[in-house]
Amino acid sequence: MTVETAQHQMGMRRFTIQLVIAAIVFTALTFTAIYARSRALLYESLRDQAANHFDLIVTARAWNAHQDGVWVVMRDGVEPNPYLDDLGVDAVIETTDGRQLTLRNPAIMADEISQLLKTRRGITYHLVALEPVNPYNTPDEWERDVLLGFDDSDEPQWTIDHQEQMFRYMRPLKVGGACVPCHQAQSYEIGQVAGATTVEIPMASLNERLRGNVVTLVILGTLSAMAATGSILLMTRRLNAQVSDARNRLVDVARTDELTGLLNRRGTLARLETEVARSARTGTPLALAMLDLDHFKNVNDTFGHSVGDEMLRHFARLVDDESRSYDIVGRLGGEEFLLIAPETDLEEAEIVAERIRTRVAAEPLRMNGEPIPMTVSIGVTELTDGEDIDALLLRADAAMYAAKDAGRDQGVAG
Ligand code: GH3
Ligand code: MG
Ligand code: MG
Repeated sequence: MTVETAQHQMGMRRFTIQLVIAAIVFTALTFTAIYARSRALLYESLRDQAANHFDLIVTARAWNAHQDGVWVVMRDGVEPNPYLDDLGVDAVIETTDGRQLTLRNPAIMADEISQLLKTRRGITYHLVALEPVNPYNTPDEWERDVLLGFDDSDEPQWTIDHQEQMFRYMRPLKVGGACVPCHQAQSYEIGQVAGATTVEIPMASLNERLRGNVVTLVILGTLSAMAATGSILLMTRRLNAQVSDARNRLVDVARTDELTGLLNRRGTLARLETEVARSARTGTPLALAMLDLDHFKNVNDTFGHSVGDEMLRHFARLVDDESRSYDIVGRLGGEEFLLIAPETDLEEAEIVAERIRTRVAAEPLRMNGEPIPMTVSIGVTELTDGEDIDALLLRADAAMYAAKDAGRDQGVAG
């Protein structure tokens, strides 16, 4: 694996991890938002429920007040309202047929309805006043704060008592004309907020459902996050494969000589680097042959550049054909080529070079059936211990020039 490939894979991994984290965060946020929204809806419906109960009690009170109280038959469990005595109201009368009736004023009627609802539905009404006639109507801390707040605004208030698992809702009670006769002692004025009603709805079963909702949402959220992660991994793997493919093609293009299809200078030198390192590591020999066409300029000058190109292609085919499968052939530039022969010593390389030289001389490019004379000068050399690439190439080059000097169409070992 090259350094770039490793870097690319690390980048892809980081990208994938970031995507997965983003997907998980997004899913978590979405499901948290769904949870928050459903909880808010639940609280809204609790508030509506409480408001309905409040309306019911207020309507009942108004009806009672409108009747100036209602007389009911006294029997077991139907006792006179003791607080009416304090207000100087005679709360018991006897009918001509000897029955005893007692007065149900708005407050006690509301209390009694509230008792009934408490036993039947667990819903509590609590009448509170800053100056209550009945001490039972004394507000607790939250109720007192809300009551004081009603001086500024009539908006109903609600809270959740987590310890008692109660939804608590409070709305102000305003003094109406019918209230004044009984509440003279408190010197209420009509329209003034005299107190409030707290409606309490038990939340235990709702909380149970909310917890169930949380479990469902967590399971769904986890499944969604897993599905998102799975698709991301699948997509990034596919993307990675495509990117690697494109990269490999790019690398190929960057290392290929367009004219001959052989490795270009960059590709050849990269392979040489690899082979030199391998040879140094394993101690196996490595030979090089520098090949340069003789008097190539003349070909261009005589037959034209495109025939020159054709000759370069022809030459490349011959060298490639003559070299062994594990040899590497590249074009360094112009009409200069390099043959890298791994696991080959100088002697063997000279044989390969000679084979190439003979073949090139024997199979010149033909134009309209006529051969265009073609020869090559070859400098052969072998990697020596601890030698670097530049020194090795210089030596191969020098050997090739020696071949030129010696009359061309020959191989020289250097
Ligand atoms: P020598 O025997 O000393 O090597 O002589 P030479 O003519 O082969 O060498 P020289 O360096 O004088 O000329 C090389 C010529 O190769 C010059 C240049 O125009 C030509 N050449 C370089 N690249 C290409 C190419 O891609 N196509 C063609 N047709 N010609 C090229
Ligand atoms: Mg030349
Ligand atoms: Mg040259």
